[in-house]
Amino acid sequence: MSLFVQKYGGTSVGTIERIEAVADKVAGFRANGHDIVVAVSAMSGETNRLIALANEIQENPDPREMDVLVSTGEQVTIALLCMALKKRGWDARSYTGSQVKILTDNSHTKARIQDIDVSNMRADLDAGRVVVVAGFQGVDEDGNITTLGRGGSDTTGVALAAALKADECQIYTDVDGVYTTDPRVCEGAKRLDKITFEEMLEMASQGSKVLQIRSVEFAGKYNVPLRVLHSFQDGPGTLITLDEDYSDMEQPVVSGIAFNRDEAKVTVAGVPDTPGVAARVLAPIGAANIEVDVIVQNVAADGTTDITFTVHRNDIEKARTTLEQVAKEVGARDVLTDDKIAKVSIVGVGMRSHAGVASKMFDALAADNINIQMITTSEIKIAVIIEERYLELAVRCLHKAFDLDAIEN
Ligand code: ADP
Ligand code: ASP
Ligand code: MG
Repeated sequence: MSLFVQKYGGTSVGTIERIEAVADKVAGFRANGHDIVVAVSAMSGETNRLIALANEIQENPDPREMDVLVSTGEQVTIALLCMALKKRGWDARSYTGSQVKILTDNSHTKARIQDIDVSNMRADLDAGRVVVVAGFQGVDEDGNITTLGRGGSDTTGVALAAALKADECQIYTDVDGVYTTDPRVCEGAKRLDKITFEEMLEMASQGSKVLQIRSVEFAGKYNVPLRVLHSFQDGPGTLITLDEDYSDMEQPVVSGIAFNRDEAKVTVAGVPDTPGVAARVLAPIGAANIEVDVIVQNVAADGTTDITFTVHRNDIEKARTTLEQVAKEVGARDVLTDDKIAKVSIVGVGMRSHAGVASKMFDALAADNINIQMITTSEIKIAVIIEERYLELAVRCLHKAFDLDAIEN
């Protein structure tokens, strides 16, 4: 008999029929003697609907009120799932984040979990109940409702599994595992039997939304066995593992391709090429709470240079206004923005021990006439910024170039 924490995502609880199907599935695990704690998302589309309502009132509503609003989606699904379980004769009890209590810091809309009180859940499990917890939400020490950022129910699932020392955290979703790339974009995408935490972390940070990045961080930190599976199709899914399998000589150099359409590019052109100027350009961006991703500074010509970097698309106007002021102060020529860009990244621990990966990537893109605007690398990743309209083409050509179509499992 095992203890599993199972997280069901929005599409898996998107209709009453699906909630009933999830109840059947959970009941099946109970019938086999397993203890089950479920974390659920809101019904698919609900969180977006709630955010859109708020935006009808104001563009940037108060974050505390935003959390009160968006946390309601998950309160609906925990209750409905418990009703469906009880209808099937299985005792179940729902909990909001604050009822559990999932204690977080007070960073509304992107709070971090600090502690989870497991006493109520333990008592329910001991009494034979299924515990159903609202994903995505917590409570700060003053009793305010908080939320964990988009996709945060994954993190709830993993955090519950860590706190309860569950045998496995199972992330049930609408795909049957982690693929070499998003199967919606590349037909040839292949399910991976396993992927290392390090690779999964890099894939998530580069835009693969199958797992929220914080859930992967959490699982790595607390050593939580983590698996991604299809909610309604049987199969082994994908295990996220700490082991790098050096024994497998066939291990591909690149394990996956991630992409991201959420960024925009800003260039401060004609900046005087003097020490400290990059800091003067970037400091006000940090002060405005704008996160910067890829940064490139050109080689100087005629005593001036261009500094280009990417920010989240939502921040591009704020970045432009901030930089127009900076440009005046440092004597730069111009501020240019472009939000029609995308980032494509190849990820794999095998890159550490292989040379020539970058040139193979650039060759493949060149063969399809895709121009690279910016490049950034880490030990296990190479990412390029390209024109957004070439994104899908780039993903497919890289998938082929690195033989990911040929993976068998
Ligand atoms: P849920 O609502 O269950 O949390 P998400 O939409 O957040 O589901 O995540 C699942 C989706 O992630 C899939 O439908 C798929 O389109 C997308 N995805 C992106 N990259 C990958 C990948 N490498 N492997 C599998 N799915 C991916
Ligand atoms: N409902 C939240 C969202 O849509 C959290 C989640 O589903 O993981 O982002
Ligand atoms: Mg998700």
